[in-house]
Amino acid sequence: MHPAMTLLLQDPVPRKPSQERERHKLAKRLRRQVGQAIADFGMIEEGDRVMVCLSGGKDSYTMLDLLLHLQKKAPVRFELVAVNLDQKQPGFPEHVLPDYLRSLGVPFTIIEQDTYSVVKRVVPEGKTLCSLCSRLRRGALYQHAKDHGFTKIALGHHRDDVLATFFMNLFFHAKLATMPPKLLSDDGAHVVIRPLATVREADIRDYADWKQYPIIPCTLCGSQENLQRKQVARMMAAWEKDYPGRTETIARALSDVRPSQLADPSAFDFANLGRLTAAPLPDAHAWLAGDAENNGPDAGHV
Ligand code: SF4
Repeated sequence: MHPAMTLLLQDPVPRKPSQERERHKLAKRLRRQVGQAIADFGMIEEGDRVMVCLSGGKDSYTMLDLLLHLQKKAPVRFELVAVNLDQKQPGFPEHVLPDYLRSLGVPFTIIEQDTYSVVKRVVPEGKTLCSLCSRLRRGALYQHAKDHGFTKIALGHHRDDVLATFFMNLFFHAKLATMPPKLLSDDGAHVVIRPLATVREADIRDYADWKQYPIIPCTLCGSQENLQRKQVARMMAAWEKDYPGRTETIARALSDVRPSQLADPSAFDFANLGRLTAAPLPDAHAWLAGDAENNGPDAGHV
């Protein structure tokens, strides 16, 4: 048989799905996840003025891109304005974000505030700068939102940030809490939304690579990454390697909280569970009053 015929008769080699198709699937998945999160948590409504915080990193570029896309098809009308805080870090490429945003035709504002010098002056040499830096940044952005009548502040934290914060709180602050998808600020003046809260960081990375955003490195400040955060990131990466899918399971658990199966009396009314009467319950002091170890002459002695 002619060699060419042999080739024709062979089973066709399965074709790898084209990169283009994979990318469209990724874009569709991200839009669906963000749209779902916006709906589930009531993040955006008719007439909202959303301040989209843009740092120049992959996450915030992706968030802006997805919000712009959803805005065109959304069932409600809302405004998007990109806002960047230029913290005056040495070498910050000032032109990058304005050039990019102009090319998109997105309204934007660059706030200039030298938080870098403040942080450098206040934080002792060798200590991590991030905590004060973030507080100052948050203050500047909140103030801007207030001065300009924004009804929502959109931040680009993704699922893996949410989980890392959860574990940081668990391991180092003894509390079950993380960055929620929607939050009212402590003073009640601002509503913060996180449209990427359910999106995997790996997907954002792929999306940003594809879109070739003009990324501004976040190392300009020269700060060391927070050690605790690094530890948690390493732990999560190791889990995911050994038990693929574990990260997603933990993320799902955050949406299935059962206060009656935990131990926080302020989150669930254990005291009144299965009561026999409505009589007031004795408090801990009353329960311990007759305990010689706590109240007797030897109280406090071993
Ligand atoms: S890495 Fe630098 S810019 Fe980012 S929060 Fe820390 S100190 Fe601030």
